[in-house]
Amino acid sequence: MEVLIVGAGPTGLTAACGLLARGIAVRVVDSAPRPATTSRALGLQPRGAEVLRRLGALGDLPQRAADVRGAGIHVNGRKIVDVGAALDAAGPRLLWIPQTEIEAQLRERLAALGGRIDWNTPLRGLVQDADGVDVELGGERVRAKWVIGCDGAHSQVRKSAGIGFPGSQLTERFLLADVHAELPGRRGEIGTFLGVGGQFVVMPLPHPDGDLWRLMAPVPDDHHDELDETEILKLLCRFAAERAGIPDLRIDRAAWTSVFRFNRRLADSYRRGRILLAGDAAHIHSPLGGQGLNTGIGDAENLVFKLALVIGGRAGIELLDTYSAERRPIAESVLSATSIGTRIGFAETAAGQRLFAALSPLLRIPAVQRRLMRAASQLGIDYRHGPLAGPTARRVRSGPRPGDRVPNIPTRDAEGHDAPLHSRLGTGWAILATGDATDHLRQAAKYLGVEQVRLITPATGTLDDVCLIRPDAHLAWRGASAEEMGRWLDTALCHEERRSV
Ligand SMILES: Cc1cc2nc3c(=O)[nH]c(=O)nc-3n(C[C@H](O)[C@H](O)[C@H](O)COP(=O)(O)OP(=O)(O)OC[C@H]3O[C@@H](n4cnc5c(N)ncnc54)[C@H](O)[C@@H]3O)c2cc1C
Repeated sequence: MEVLIVGAGPTGLTAACGLLARGIAVRVVDSAPRPATTSRALGLQPRGAEVLRRLGALGDLPQRAADVRGAGIHVNGRKIVDVGAALDAAGPRLLWIPQTEIEAQLRERLAALGGRIDWNTPLRGLVQDADGVDVELGGERVRAKWVIGCDGAHSQVRKSAGIGFPGSQLTERFLLADVHAELPGRRGEIGTFLGVGGQFVVMPLPHPDGDLWRLMAPVPDDHHDELDETEILKLLCRFAAERAGIPDLRIDRAAWTSVFRFNRRLADSYRRGRILLAGDAAHIHSPLGGQGLNTGIGDAENLVFKLALVIGGRAGIELLDTYSAERRPIAESVLSATSIGTRIGFAETAAGQRLFAALSPLLRIPAVQRRLMRAASQLGIDYRHGPLAGPTARRVRSGPRPGDRVPNIPTRDAEGHDAPLHSRLGTGWAILATGDATDHLRQAAKYLGVEQVRLITPATGTLDDVCLIRPDAHLAWRGASAEEMGRWLDTALCHEERRSV
């Protein structure tokens, strides 16, 4: 077996689709008996949607997403912030759609690509040597050339590979309930309330009856550990009254209840030899800002285009180290931003809650709103300081630098049809150029494969440089000389180290 993917959550499914789309055989296993029916994540950020679109896995998720346009912050019964108006100017919006539906769409794409998932198949342990990995799967022993651990926060792959996962607990317990209920709030708005004893959050969930809501609240430590559904709902009704001024909350029925503790942890390394980690197996943090699922999807896209090059013999194995070098700093900044936000937004002490009330009005400032939305969208992620961007990134005076996500400029095909650049990008590489770029195309095809590179032309204007775009829509290289591009590819693909693990 070429690649074993452990875990069929959003990260594992994205990785599997990405490899299958490049003709690489994968086996996907998951310890659960069947797909999850309850959703932790509720949002696909614009960047996550782009990744799925490139994979052909976005489907009609944008049409099915709920229309959530704003967020209100209420302190002691008074709405002090109404976020929303400035957001339209901030660019593409978050798709408000449950994780179960995102996963179902990815499974549909996986099946269309000829893949399947072996449910009820837990990975119990693994041992690697120079040529592959011996894996214990349920009662079965198999050998894979590569293993990608997408098996979530408690990753057995990570533990078996001996990769550390240092970090700490961020919050005490959080109650969560998805309930059918009548609530006074606007369906298109997320409400955060701060009242007596702490916070209470209300989020609308897409449902044909329009009565499904997610309720969340931190619970003080003086409650015993094992709370059942009835106790969770009773506490949430109490908190709704005390913290949000919603008396007599009537819950018809609960679709899901749970108790969470939020941790922040980051794997010491994303790769050990032939074992790779992605998604929650590599990083966990507070769900504030809707980053976890989206970061996992981004990891998977970054990893598999590189792994495919290594498996196809087009790159040295050292290329895989650029996966960790590019993606681990992204997780580091997500961990730090979400931890700060959680410590302020869900402060457990009275002093912390006063600080939250004092800082919240800053969110009224449109520029602050736009900045936060831009960060959450993940569209601003860049790899300028990563090992693939190299010194050329620093030489560029204007326009995108190597490592940047390429801007979504209008482009024109040979028949004269116009379309935004990102809608033309798939799982391959692209050369964006005005004028004759035949030499560049030939050079890129020599390194990457003829099928893997296409030429795209801007609809208007002239580009100063020829641009080589990576399969994850980041600028790989820009310049004039095809030979120089070849030298960049030679170095980037680690041809000298091709044989060493
Ligand atoms: C309350 C809450 C709200 C959240 N909200 C958001 C949000 O709005 N936006 C966002 O982006 N993120 C959010 N997240 C985070 C998001 O849910 C996760 O980041 C995301 O699910 C990670 O995907 P994953 O595929 O890496 O791991 P998981 O989704 O955890 O999938 C791991 C898979 O591996 C399987 N598995 C585990 N062990 C084994 C084994 N030994 N062998 C085989 N299979 C195994 C599991 O059964 C599972 O299917 C939230 C999280 C929580 C807790």
